[in-house]
Amino acid sequence: MINLLDLDARGLAAFFADLGEKPFRAKQVSHWVHQRLAGDVAAMTDLSRPLRERVAALAEIHGPAVISDTTASDGTRKWLLDVAAGNAVEMVYIPEDDRGTLCVSTQAGCALDCAFCSTGRQGFNRNLTVAEIVGQLWHANRTLLADGVTAPWIEQGRAPITNVVLMGMGEPLANYDNVVPALRVFLDDNAYGLSRRRVTLSTSGLVPALDRLREDCPVALAVSLHAGNDALRNRLVPINRVHPLADLLAACNRYLERAPRDFVTFEYVMLDGVNDAPEAARELARLVRDVPCKFNLIPWNPFPGAQFATSPRSRILAFQQVLADAGFVTTIRKTRGEDIDAACGQLAGRVQDRTRRRLGIRAVPAPSTAH
Ligand code: SAH
Ligand code: SF4
Repeated sequence: MINLLDLDARGLAAFFADLGEKPFRAKQVSHWVHQRLAGDVAAMTDLSRPLRERVAALAEIHGPAVISDTTASDGTRKWLLDVAAGNAVEMVYIPEDDRGTLCVSTQAGCALDCAFCSTGRQGFNRNLTVAEIVGQLWHANRTLLADGVTAPWIEQGRAPITNVVLMGMGEPLANYDNVVPALRVFLDDNAYGLSRRRVTLSTSGLVPALDRLREDCPVALAVSLHAGNDALRNRLVPINRVHPLADLLAACNRYLERAPRDFVTFEYVMLDGVNDAPEAARELARLVRDVPCKFNLIPWNPFPGAQFATSPRSRILAFQQVLADAGFVTTIRKTRGEDIDAACGQLAGRVQDRTRRRLGIRAVPAPSTAH
C-alpha cells in the first residue's frame, strides 16, 4: 500500500497520472490529506465513489503510532512516536504568544555524536521516511484541532501549527532525500502552505548538503556552532573534523544568497566552563564578522549520564552582552517543557539495534570547573 503522507506534489501527480486521472485530482487529494487532515480515503467525498474505491485499493493515510502524549505545565506538548523495530522518536509542540511551533524529528538517533546531545549519545538507527516526517505535522495539527485547542493565532478551523523547526532528533541534512520532499509538502500551497521563513532547518554543518539545499529547497537556516575555534568545535561537534569552521561559514554565506531570510541563526549551547567564557564570546564575534547572523544561546539541558553542566545565568548574560556589544542580535532560548523532558537535546526517544555508526571519534571533553 502507498502511504499518501509519503507523496509530495510530484509524487501525487505521478500517482494520478498512472491511474489515467487528471492532474487536478492530485491537488484535491492533497487538500484532503494535509488541509482537511483526513485519515481515510473514504472521507474524500468530492471524488466519485468509483475513484475513491480505486484510490483506496492502492493507497491509505497512515499516520504515526503514538506511544505517549504528555503536556507540560507551560502548554508544551510532547508526543513519543513508534517508528517500528523498537525505535521511537519525539516531536514537540511549543505554543508562544504569536505562533504555534512544531519541533520535528528527522532520524531515529543520530550518527554525528555531539558530546552534549542526548540523541547523539544513543547512536543511530535509521532515517525517517517522508511519511514519518510529514506525519508529525499532520498528526499534531489533527490532534490539536480535534482537541479544540485555541490560541490568538489560530483561525477558526485552521491548522494550529504556524511554524516548523527541524530541531528534534537527528541531523536533517544527513537524511536529505527524505527531508527535502517533506519540506516541499510543508511549503506547498495545496498542502500546509507554510512560508519558507516559517520553516527552519537546523544543522550541525554538513557543508555539501547545505549547498544542495540552497539549490533544491532553501528555507530559514539555523547552524549549530557551539564553539568559536576548530579545536573546541572538533571536540563538541565531531563533524567539524570533516567540515571545519572556515568551510562551514563560507557555505553559510553561499546559502544566504538564496535563503528566505537575510541572516543565519547561530545556535550556541552554553556549557559551563567549556565554551562560555567572555573571551570565547569575543573570539566568536571575530569568527563570524563576515556572516550576516543572529545568535541564539541555548542553556544546556541535562540528561542522565551527561558530563556537562549548564552555564550559570550570570555567565550566559555576560556572554550575551559581549556579543551584543559587538553588534550581534543575541537571544537566550527560553527552556520549554522542562517538566516533561521536552527541551532541546533532551529528546531521547528510543533507539534500538543501533549500528553505532558514528564518526569513529569519541569526543567527550572533561568540563573544567574553573571560570
Ligand atoms: N542535528 C541538528 C538538529 C537537531 S539538534 C543540529 O545539531 O543542529 C537541535 C539543537 O539542539 C542543536 O543546536 C543542538 O546542538 C542543540 N542541543 C543538542 N543537545 C542539547 C542539550 N542537551 N541542551 C541544549 N541544546 C542541545
Ligand atoms: Fe545529531 Fe544534532 Fe544531536 Fe549533534 S546535536 S548528535 S547533529 S541531533
